[in-house]
Amino acid sequence: MTLIEPDGIWCDVRTPGFPAHRPALFLDRDGTLIELVDYLASPDKVCLIDAVVEAIRTANNAGVAVVVVTNQSGIGRGYYDWTAFEAVQTRLYELLMAADARIDAAYACPHPPPSAGGPAGSLYRKPAPGMFLRAGTDLALDLVKSRVAGDTSADLAAGKAAGLSAGLLVETGYGDRDLVAARALEDDRYDVAWADWS
Ligand SMILES: [Mg+2]
Repeated sequence: MTLIEPDGIWCDVRTPGFPAHRPALFLDRDGTLIELVDYLASPDKVCLIDAVVEAIRTANNAGVAVVVVTNQSGIGRGYYDWTAFEAVQTRLYELLMAADARIDAAYACPHPPPSAGGPAGSLYRKPAPGMFLRAGTDLALDLVKSRVAGDTSADLAAGKAAGLSAGLLVETGYGDRDLVAARALEDDRYDVAWADWS
């Protein structure tokens, strides 16, 4: 993996040479891909959410890139470091491999919100689209045909800002809290769906 400077964004392209011009399924991590644990820094607390594993396998088999995009403000807040983050990621990849599911790239933003000492105008912290755009460049993705799944409206807003065509608000994590805000993002070029992986 690499830290993208000057902003210190985690960038891990796990499938080098992924074919160009494919769509992606972007996935939030905490509360979407794994059970929500606030400021997760312990690999033994990683628990996969079954519905998303099935969706990852489907995407893998369809030639759709699977890209994790995760806000990790606990790093910027000093609660844990990149080493702890990497240990959690390693556990996640072990569990996914055992389930025959593959993540093609992962991005993490350590910025807290400005109210917690983070940079004003972060290009990467969702709802900003920077991690999606970076993945689009790194994997030569077709962003217009790509989708995002997440448990907050910030995940879906970031996908919309990156030019994706659809967002899925999952019912896990914070999902039921953000349904109204997610629905408000829908327009004629951005579909919003609720907890339906089909
Ligand atoms: Mg989340």
